[in-house]
Formats: sequence, structure tokens, C-alpha cells
Amino acid sequence: MESISGTAPEAVISVRGLTKAYAGRVVVDHVDLDVFPGEIVGLIGANGAGKTTAVECLQGLRRPDAGKIRVLGLDPARDGPLLRAQLGSQLQDSGLPDRIRVGEAVELFAGPGAQEPGPLLERFGIAARARTAYAALSGGERQRLFLVLALLNRPRLVILDELTQGLDPAARRSVRAAVAQLRDSGVTVLLVTHEVAEAEALCNRVVVMKAGRILDRGTPAELIARHGGHAIIRFGLPRLDNATTAAALQQLNRLPAVQSVTHAEHTVTVRGGRPAIAHVGAWLTGRPDPIPDDLDVALPDLEGALLSLLTEPDRTAVAA
Ligand code: ATP
Repeated sequence: MESISGTAPEAVISVRGLTKAYAGRVVVDHVDLDVFPGEIVGLIGANGAGKTTAVECLQGLRRPDAGKIRVLGLDPARDGPLLRAQLGSQLQDSGLPDRIRVGEAVELFAGPGAQEPGPLLERFGIAARARTAYAALSGGERQRLFLVLALLNRPRLVILDELTQGLDPAARRSVRAAVAQLRDSGVTVLLVTHEVAEAEALCNRVVVMKAGRILDRGTPAELIARHGGHAIIRFGLPRLDNATTAAALQQLNRLPAVQSVTHAEHTVTVRGGRPAIAHVGAWLTGRPDPIPDDLDVALPDLEGALLSLLTEPDRTAVAA
């Protein structure tokens, strides 16, 4: 493949126009993606969005129909084995024989220049399981073993697909903490996930895919600002006469960043941008009535942003 122009030279992953069809059906459609050193980028989207196909092309496990890809400076279609020796990628559950012990798996996967496995097993909380057969590990322990194997050979880039799928909340939490440790040690990570909380907790940037195309990308905060909707502020208003209530609602309506104010059964609901929260708070403290003790604020979050993005019809894909 020819060299990619117009991309920052230091990108660890650089993709332009990646397209892949199965039996004539396009499942990855002109995807552009850059991942820079030290980032954790989350690839998120509905089932069948094309995420796994895209990352398989990045690892040289599938041949794209069109597009230019560089991963760690290599062309995955041409240099697949060399590339896969340099990147840490997560095994699927069937990737290890049932009877292999944790310590044996580590020995098997260690290449020249591998790091000491002891501290790594310690760091991921499975050092005590070194003599345990793979089949006897819990789901969370298996995922942590996959992380150890992915990191053993000191990769600059790790690609993780559905890392916490099927895990219970405690195991999910410990695997996420392990990925956060990766991030903190400067490894670049591409994380394919359905889990919004996972993306929000771990990723510097999130790329949202639907039906083979990228709908939007940005930091969780940017995506929330663009698609997250309003903050919702609710509180009880004392029983006042109609004119006083109407005046109060009018004052609220005029506050900066407030979009709408509704009033039902003595509860006021204010919708607006985040600054509306502080303005409503100031308005409440400036009133002669006692401060309401039932004030409730719902912030716009990434889940709401993704929901609105993924359910919005006919969005046009965005550039890298
Ligand atoms: P999920 O989140 O469900 O894992 P995904 O975003 O990773 O989905 P892919 O697994 O890449 O999406 O699948 C994209 C589309 O391609 C789906 O419609 C899937 O059924 C189809 N597909 C995947 N692999 C193959 C294959 N080997 N042959 C034919 N179709 C395939």
C-alpha cells in the first residue's frame, strides 16, 4: 500500500477509506481513523456496526477491499505476522487449551525481550493462580490473563475487543482497573466495546460507529456537549398563589442557559445547558422562601448522547 498523506506522522494507527464487504454487503464503509501514542480510543456502536471487522483489518486478520492502513508503521495486509508480533491483542475465549496452566501460558507466549511475568501477574491480581489450569479460572481471571499475555512482550499498541463482555460487575471492575493501569503506563489502546460506562471511564476519545460508518468522534465531554441533551433540574415549589407562581416561573425562564420550564403538582422542571444548574441554584438561594430540600439534578451523560446519536436517522458520516 502507498504511504498515507495528510496524517500526523506519529499516529500509531492511521486508516483512510477502510472498506470491507462480505458477499457484496458493505459492513465497513470508508472509515477513517487515527490513534496517537498514549491514547485509549474506544470504538463503540450497535451490534453489527462493523467494529470487529474493522479491527480485524487493522491486525491483518482480514483483507480490506479498499483503504489505506498503517499500524505501527506497517501495512497489516502485507506485514501481518510481523505486526501481530509487535502488538498486544486479546485472545478470544477459545484461544487457550483448557489444561494449560497460567504459568505455562505465560512461558509459551513470552517472546525475546518479554518482560518478567511475575510482576505482571501480580499487577493483574492472578499471581496466586500461576499453577491453575485455564479451565479452572473465572471469567474475570481469564480476561486478566489475556491482558497479561497481551502485555508480556511490551507492545506499544494493544487492541482489545469486548474485554468485559459476560463478566459480573466485580470482575468487570477489576478488568477495567487493569486497563486503566495500561493507560497510565503510556501504552496506546484501541478498545472495542458496547459498554458506555467502560468507554466513559477509560477512553480519551470515543469513535461512534453505525452500519459501517463513523457517525462522530471526540472526547466523552465533546460528545456529551454535542449530543447529550439538557441538564434537568427539579425541585418542589411552595404552594403559592397563581400570580406568584407564574412570576417565579417567568423569572426561571429568563435565567441564562435555561431552555424550558414546566410546573406540575408543585414540582418545577427546568431543562437547559449545564450553566443553568448554577443559575437556578443562585435563583433559589436568592428567594425569601426556604431552600427546597428535594432539589434533583440529572446531568447530560455519554449514554444519553450515544443513544441520541445512534437512534438519529440518516446522519452523515464525519471526517477524521
Ligand atoms: P458486534 O458488536 O455485534 O460484535 P460489530 O460492530 O463488531 O458487531 P462485526 O462483527 O464487524 O460488527 O459485523 C459487521 C457485520 O458483518 C454484521 O452484520 C455481521 O453479521 C457481518 N459479518 C461479520 N463477520 C462476517 C463473516 N465472516 N461473513 C459474513 N458476514 C460477516
